[in-house]
Amino acid sequence: MSSDSQQSAARFPSEIYSSRLARAAEYAGQAGLDALLISPGPDLRYLVGSQASSFERLICLVVAADGSTPTVVVPRLELAALQPSAVTELGLRVTDWVDGVSPYDIVAGMLPSGAATAVDDAMPALHFVPLADKLGRTPVLATEVLRRLRMLKDDSEIAALRRAGQAIDRVHARMGEFLKVGRTEAAVAADIGDAIVAEGHTEAAFIIVGSGPHGADPHHEVSDRVIEVGDVVVIDIGGPVDPGYNSDSTRTYVLGEPSSEIAAQYAVLERAQQAAVDAVAPGVTAEAIDAAARDILVAEGLGEAFLHRTGHGIGLSVHEEPYIVAGNDIELVDGMAFSIEPGIYFRGHWGARIEDIVIVTADGCESVNQRPHGLVSLPID
Ligand code: ZN
Ligand code: ZN
Ligand code: ZN
Repeated sequence: MSSDSQQSAARFPSEIYSSRLARAAEYAGQAGLDALLISPGPDLRYLVGSQASSFERLICLVVAADGSTPTVVVPRLELAALQPSAVTELGLRVTDWVDGVSPYDIVAGMLPSGAATAVDDAMPALHFVPLADKLGRTPVLATEVLRRLRMLKDDSEIAALRRAGQAIDRVHARMGEFLKVGRTEAAVAADIGDAIVAEGHTEAAFIIVGSGPHGADPHHEVSDRVIEVGDVVVIDIGGPVDPGYNSDSTRTYVLGEPSSEIAAQYAVLERAQQAAVDAVAPGVTAEAIDAAARDILVAEGLGEAFLHRTGHGIGLSVHEEPYIVAGNDIELVDGMAFSIEPGIYFRGHWGARIEDIVIVTADGCESVNQRPHGLVSLPID
């Protein structure tokens, strides 16, 4: 079984991966590490463009801090899974192993005893525990080292995020085709899923259709609830476009016309979301962006209704650093990409959220999403 048979082979030119590998080795050295040990997941995809999956047999990219050629340790029967990647183009070493041999011994044998290593945060415990045992020293997480790379999007990543944003905007533009009175959330979601792919994503990663009281649950997905006249509906959708960069956009719809109370509260949310977007600039902290949205909602008596952080970084993962949350004093830098998605939630009644992905620029930010922010009224007949 090849895990990659139906996956896209799309990736960036190999120079991008060689530069990432070189900087990963450099940063690992600066962090006092001897090597990074990276198993299948977003970090492996970031470093070599491989979409291989983790199974019970270890696949591990070993990036030594001394800058020597990285090695991929891979089961012989999974060699094909490495083919759609930059491993061959980059001339990386490949050490294959067969059943009956310990791949953990192979990895440990490549490093000095007691080596300081870091593993990706997607490595299964199934591999981490025996690997740590053979290394004789518990690895730390590579997150700190790799976030320095992954948080700062280069021009090709920004272009991919823009394509993703445009693709999900096209899905929202078509919402009137899917979201109608008398249909279930599940039926609406199925059509949205088809549209997500038709508009250029490789798959639908998530689809939230939160109608009426379900809109008050920020992570409600879908149900068999039937859409009614007057429902406010939160639609939060996204997925990856080649080579793996995600869209994530929320708009809130109403079937018919909103009550004046809903319209007034929604207007405050719209103002809060815009204030956060306007606050984005290099040197501003992540928590200041959260506060920009939150302060407006609090001032209007809606602070209790805003149940979650303002946003999250996005790229090869839908949720990654930097997190736009109170307590995160990281300073924004040109090239960071994250969501700005304040919401208001009234348990048992309704909810609303507005979400755009923005990219920090030299003097502010660029939004990859261009759909209007207002509550979108859809016809009821
Ligand atoms: Zn979420
Ligand atoms: Zn979202
Ligand atoms: Zn989001």
